[in-house]
Amino acid sequence: MIMTRVPMQIQLTQSKKEKPDPATLVFGKTFTDHMLIVDYEEGKGWHSHRIVPYAPLTLDPAAIVFHYGQTVFEGMKAYKSEEGTIRMFRPEENMKRLNYSLDRLCMPRIDEENALYALNQLLQIDKDWIPTLDGTSLYIRPFVIATEAFLGVAPAKKYQFFMILSPVGSYYKEGIHPVKILVENEFVRATKGGTGSAKTAGNYASALKAQEVADQQGYSQVLWLDGVERKYVEEVGSMNIFFKINGEVVTPAINGSILEGITRKSILQLLRHWEVPVAERKISMDEIRNAYENGQLEEVFGTGTAAVISPVGELNWDGYKMIIGNGETGELSKKLYDTLTNIQTGKENDPFNWVYEIKKHIAQLA
Ligand SMILES: *Cc1c(COP(=O)(O)O)cnc(C)c1O
Repeated sequence: MIMTRVPMQIQLTQSKKEKPDPATLVFGKTFTDHMLIVDYEEGKGWHSHRIVPYAPLTLDPAAIVFHYGQTVFEGMKAYKSEEGTIRMFRPEENMKRLNYSLDRLCMPRIDEENALYALNQLLQIDKDWIPTLDGTSLYIRPFVIATEAFLGVAPAKKYQFFMILSPVGSYYKEGIHPVKILVENEFVRATKGGTGSAKTAGNYASALKAQEVADQQGYSQVLWLDGVERKYVEEVGSMNIFFKINGEVVTPAINGSILEGITRKSILQLLRHWEVPVAERKISMDEIRNAYENGQLEEVFGTGTAAVISPVGELNWDGYKMIIGNGETGELSKKLYDTLTNIQTGKENDPFNWVYEIKKHIAQLA
């Protein structure tokens, strides 16, 4: 890969923050010393790449993002290996998906290589913030917002692209642990033709109500069904979903309303590599219930950057409770979790060339 070098202004902070205790990190609450900002203006394109001290923004109250939600984001992680090198997991895929989401929201595409180059620099500057304790990592949140001050409903002419970094702890405090999931019959996340396949804020805002109801009933997530018939499985909160039924691993096919996860894609590659039978197809709740009743629903797990693999111990469909694998983590879920996290952190070799090592891409940085 050729790194296009964009001129980058770097303003380092005068007051470095105290780093949190890696043993008690929570997801997404602390942020590092610096952030990336890039401006966009119609006719001028993306310009003024800069790394500046992490600080609140000043925006016009009429900025389009506040009113009509023209914004998209990404989520990825960086790790520090035992040798001290910085590693990321398939970041090219995140940049590609960012452009997909930008297109869907009528926002200008970014240059994927320039964005990765900028991220390399930002990580180099804040590298001491990458935690090394088992299960910890540095979460990277790229996002783009419409900043033009205008109350008309139209694509903005001005945008800003940011990347912020947050040291995060292990998703599982006491090792990998199954979650209880409520199958959602009332609310809908997305339908074909909508924005479900883009990582855009509105999808998550509209999901909060269902999440709140599930919470009150003691469930940590909801499983979304298709928006038309409420029959077929789509995905979970911010994870894709997999079912192991009678030896075969089934996941809903990409259909225009599901977010196409990079973890999902990687899990499918790993399973095919291991010669485990897999299928990407429509799967109905009736089929899952039948499999459960026949004793063939062997494992259920969610996949996403934050948790990597999240085993499901219980599915509640309209009061019908399915307890999967005695509520314990399945063998395949555990093996997938271990393999993927070992590849990410460098404890296991990387047969698919998924890992992106910073030092390979930027040898000499000021
Ligand atoms: C981000 C996300 C996923 C998982 O994607 P990964 O690339 O694996 O992190 C799945 N579903 C939704 C709705 C998401 O926002």
